Amino acid sequence: MEGYCFELITGPMSCGKTEELLRRIRRCIIAKKKVKVFSPDVDTRSGGDYIESRNGLWLDAIKVKHSIEILSLVKDVQVVAIDELQFFDTNIVPVINELMKQGKRVIGTGLELDFKAEPFGSMPELMCIATKVDKLHAVCMKCGCDHATRTQRLIDGKPADKSSPLIMIGGDETYEARCIKCYELPDIKKKAKNLGLKLLQFNK
Ligand SMILES: [Zn+2]
Repeated sequence: MEGYCFELITGPMSCGKTEELLRRIRRCIIAKKKVKVFSPDVDTRSGGDYIESRNGLWLDAIKVKHSIEILSLVKDVQVVAIDELQFFDTNIVPVINELMKQGKRVIGTGLELDFKAEPFGSMPELMCIATKVDKLHAVCMKCGCDHATRTQRLIDGKPADKSSPLIMIGGDETYEARCIKCYELPDIKKKAKNLGLKLLQFNK
């Protein structure tokens, strides 16, 4: 595609979204297109101003706090790549619409579901305005099947319950891709009720 389009690459963690984004960007560079890569300021996976896929490929990226900033930074470019779209503010939807209208090719990645298997940030709207959506699957870290579509949060090795915060700071949390059969989301409040237990923190 040559422009006026928005290609969205989505799926759970470890499905190769960033790897696929980097593959498309490399092809744009070979074709001598002017490319700029953006990532949200909240992404903590990579330390510096670059995006990195889990297989070690990386590319320089401009970190932005507000999605609106992107518009003033892409005057001279033909291809706008945006990583981790789920972390941007809601203005990302009109911003991408505007970039398309200007004739740019926009390529984005984002987690479609959070650890609670609920739509993440503006991803539902972005999937609607995209001209092409690729849903990638990961390998399930529990059963090894090829159809992992969920992102499992583990705290101290155990599935995190529904009440844990969306973005956690500190704590020993890890994530793994899981298929729908292996994905677990314990509802600790319900469990406690069923058992007739009175958990102190839920009695406030
Ligand atoms: Zn599985």
